[in-house]
Amino acid sequence: MEFEYWWLLAFPLFFALGWLAARIDIRQVVTESRTVPNSYFRGLNFLLNEQPDKALDAFLEVVKLDPETIDLHYTLGALFRKRGEIDRAIRMHENLLERETLAEEDRLKALAELGQDYLKAGLLDRAEAVFTRLLETPFAGQARRFLLEIYVQEKDWQKAVQAADELDKQSAQPMNAEIAHFNCELATLDMVKGDTDSAHAHLDKALSIHRQCTRANIMLGDLQAGAGDREGAIATWRLIEAQSPGHMVLVVDRLLDNFKQLNRLDEGLDWLKGLLTRHPSLDLFTTLYHAVMQSQGAEAAYQLAREELRRNPSFHALERLAEAELITAPEDRREVIQNAKSLIQSHVQRLTRYHCASCGFKAKQFFWRCPACGRWDSFDPARHEE
Ligand SMILES: [Zn+2]
Repeated sequence: MEFEYWWLLAFPLFFALGWLAARIDIRQVVTESRTVPNSYFRGLNFLLNEQPDKALDAFLEVVKLDPETIDLHYTLGALFRKRGEIDRAIRMHENLLERETLAEEDRLKALAELGQDYLKAGLLDRAEAVFTRLLETPFAGQARRFLLEIYVQEKDWQKAVQAADELDKQSAQPMNAEIAHFNCELATLDMVKGDTDSAHAHLDKALSIHRQCTRANIMLGDLQAGAGDREGAIATWRLIEAQSPGHMVLVVDRLLDNFKQLNRLDEGLDWLKGLLTRHPSLDLFTTLYHAVMQSQGAEAAYQLAREELRRNPSFHALERLAEAELITAPEDRREVIQNAKSLIQSHVQRLTRYHCASCGFKAKQFFWRCPACGRWDSFDPARHEE
């Protein structure tokens, strides 16, 4: 039998492994692993097996056995809050705060967590008190953001303006769009009270802070129209096209109505046709269609729908076409057209919604602030067919 020379290479390797093994103190490894409670590993195991409930129980046991695991307290508290178990989160953070030996930084951190628990639970007064206490601490930036959220929820727009102002000064995040909205909210309250001077002042302020604030121009136009200055209102509303063409759909009805009141509806319709050519939109077309139907009759409305269908095919335009055709069609064809129209209508109702670009929330009406995620200006004013 021939001797395999490569075996010679294996001897030094075995020697090196033996030398290494002698230097690793197995006992030390075992002792160290014993200092971490078994429940910790059980918890991790449950997490890996996607059993979060059992994992939580295991981690709670760790916290009971070893109260020094402060970070685990935060993690568990945040987890409870996220799952909607606010009572447990509150208890966890309150227990932590009761410890006399707690370091100052941990005390502030636990307080910030508790404030978030209160906020999630809707206990706004308590949350406000906690975050106000944190304003003089290193947690001030975070506290200010939560305070702003509280003021918005409470609809305390004056305080919201102040908090946003502070945030704007202290952080790199510009807040001017939000501050403009808060001023518009204040103007809305003024208008309800009939204080038009104050409403004007708040809207002017909104525009001086954020020139692109379409909402302020919409409301300024409303104020002017309300005071009988229709010409002025039309001019103000038309400024919105340069700010954000998409937002024109929000005022186009009022605009046409004021043209009509001034006995200049034809001028208004021509302007709207121009706008629709510059910025195609389902809602602009629908407004124009109804105005044409009302002032020039079904034949003109039918032609308009046909033209639109050719330029921008949509179920919306198809529905309008069927509607106009139904009026002009001879008696014996009406049933067929009516059936087709109903079918298209039920389809269109499901398709056209306003969308939040931030969280995807869908709604039948337009919102300046998303009711689901709380973002301002996240809704596209144009409805789209999906
Ligand atoms: Zn949203």
